[in-house]
Amino acid sequence: MPSSPQHVTAPSSPVLERHSLRSDCSSCFALCCTALGFSRSTDFALDKPAGAPCQNLASDFSCTIHDRLRPRGFRGCTVFDCFGAGQHVSQKLFGGTSWRTNPKTKQDMFAAFTTARQLHEMLWHLIEATRRTYDPDLKEQATELRTTIENALGGDAHDVLDLAVEPLHEQVRGVLMDVSEEVRVAYFANGGDHLEDALTPGADLIGQNFRAQSLCGADLRGAYLIAADLRNCDLSGADLLGTDLRDALLHDADLSTALYLTQPQLNAAQGNHSTGLPADLVMPTHWHED
Ligand code: SF4
Repeated sequence: MPSSPQHVTAPSSPVLERHSLRSDCSSCFALCCTALGFSRSTDFALDKPAGAPCQNLASDFSCTIHDRLRPRGFRGCTVFDCFGAGQHVSQKLFGGTSWRTNPKTKQDMFAAFTTARQLHEMLWHLIEATRRTYDPDLKEQATELRTTIENALGGDAHDVLDLAVEPLHEQVRGVLMDVSEEVRVAYFANGGDHLEDALTPGADLIGQNFRAQSLCGADLRGAYLIAADLRNCDLSGADLLGTDLRDALLHDADLSTALYLTQPQLNAAQGNHSTGLPADLVMPTHWHED
């Protein structure tokens, strides 16, 4: 979510590595604050329809309450991350001309942002899959999918808008699951035998206490670990694809080799300086403050 005024810059580089998949609000026309719709909740203090600018958005695309988002009831804005889709759409697909300067582009720009964010998130995971697998076939499949996505993103806005995202998503999901299986076996899947029945994809583990347990190689894909106590846990090789970590306690836990972890998941959780993170992720700002 935007932190500083937007500057028009040269088109961004082709998306090749994970560091390209970080949001750069200074090069974005605040697309998350306009294109997306929000309902009033504990994460967002007001109703905002999709396609309308947030009332806290300034004319220079900065956020007027950026340094007070959590106390003002906009916690969701500190969790959201566009995986670098915002600056790509603003600068590459629409050539650095904003929807304010050229309102006719608004609809396409917002639609492209919604699709590009999904594509960037897929790239984030595919890059990890190619790094983690030792299976040449899986590496090739992941690379091919990555190329398809990068080619669409490297074209124009219509290449992105015309892409059939759902079938692509299914293919990506299949490869990610296959790589997960390969990786988790290497980490002695379900490290804690006594937890084997509980640690399943999509499991409801809300508020459960796993403190200091070994969850190595667990398949926690899509599981609900909201407010779960994971302090001092070993999550090496655990699959966290889509795992809900809102308010999960990650203090002193080791997630440095967990699979498919994203910045928004971390932003939604609690942790400390001793939480082990994968190299491409950063400690959320609010962890410093807690
Ligand atoms: S509160 Fe700020 S960061 Fe959140 S949507 Fe509004 S302008 Fe964007």
